[in-house]
Amino acid sequence: DPAATIDADPAPRRSTVGVGVGNIMVGGGAPVVVQSMTNTDTADIDATVAQVAALAKAGSEIVRITVDRDESAAAVPKVRERLDRLGVDVPLVGDFHYIGHKLLADHPACAEALAKYRINPGNVGFKDKKDRQFGAIVETAIRYGKPVRIGVNWGSLDQELLTRLMDANNELPQPRSARAVTREAIVQSALLSAELAEEIGLGRDRIILSAKVSQVQDLIAVYRDLSRRTNHALHLGLTEAGMGSKGIVASSAAMGILLQEGIGDTIRVSLTPEPNGDRTREVQVAQELLQTMGFRQFLPVVAACPGCGRTTSTVFQELAQKIQSDIRINMPIWREKYPGVEALNVAVMGCIVNGPGESKHADIGISLPGTGETPAAPVFVDGKKSVTLRGPDIAADFQVMVADYIER
Ligand code: SF4
Repeated sequence: DPAATIDADPAPRRSTVGVGVGNIMVGGGAPVVVQSMTNTDTADIDATVAQVAALAKAGSEIVRITVDRDESAAAVPKVRERLDRLGVDVPLVGDFHYIGHKLLADHPACAEALAKYRINPGNVGFKDKKDRQFGAIVETAIRYGKPVRIGVNWGSLDQELLTRLMDANNELPQPRSARAVTREAIVQSALLSAELAEEIGLGRDRIILSAKVSQVQDLIAVYRDLSRRTNHALHLGLTEAGMGSKGIVASSAAMGILLQEGIGDTIRVSLTPEPNGDRTREVQVAQELLQTMGFRQFLPVVAACPGCGRTTSTVFQELAQKIQSDIRINMPIWREKYPGVEALNVAVMGCIVNGPGESKHADIGISLPGTGETPAAPVFVDGKKSVTLRGPDIAADFQVMVADYIER
């Protein structure tokens, strides 16, 4: 039915059990949460506080920090205190591998200060110790009333489980591919670990699952399967997504498809930053992914055409950039003063071909004159032509009109 295709909306969100992470609800019908992770040494309290604060300011609603040794575990409560003093109430998640059970036992203030513990079931311990060490973290979570994320990652997948499934697969008359078995091992690792945590006594409302892989098709397959087999809240993320546009495209492609299918309660876009690059970029990309798909609104959207041979001057690109930058600078004030401003759509278009049409679809839009066109720029407000700007100050005049529109 072609009409059904045209009308296709996102599938309803899959029903999951909500998990409170500090003051943030994940799953249970809550809006999809944006989260991120620091890349500072947590033992470096100044650097960690600064980065957590920057990520929170950029819009990260949960921030994960590495807790890999005694020094970092000892720093966690100090980081929390400093953030509280700065008025940054973002929940902190401790990322534990190998010795998390020991660090949590030896540093009760760390266990208390964290809002969630991330456990990697693939490296929580070895052989017979595995369940005991996993269990120790779960028991700590129960004692402190904290949730956990059971975070499977195929770079550190439980090798015993994988070997067992591979062996069983080889016995089949028609064995499945190694890739299919690996996907199954990832899903099973998450599900079996969640089952064990629940047997120990952790409620389902305290467990979030993730199963991260680095290939787009694998991520889609794994999460579709996971979502069919459990109603645990799900954290989505493509691991080792990569640098620059590759990481952004791969994360958006994979998570966009899953979100469209109603799968995913919280997302992280894992980008490899440039050395000394801006860590908050991943938060911006996650927000833009959710906003462009229509799931959440964070910032007014500026629609701009790509430009072509009809726009040989750079006037319209410069204006689009100025409007975008005005928005970023003013949003902290606008958000307080004008609730709902994040739903605003502004269009900045390069010529008469699509300019007036696109501008009419926006709340406020301008169609700048293309090469050879009359030097006049009609402005559309709420779908109707408002004024035509002329002269050397078109850009500044439009900036004022946008600010006035927001105020009104
Ligand atoms: Fe080119 Fe005009 Fe289309 Fe912009 S709106 S891409 S300037 S034809």
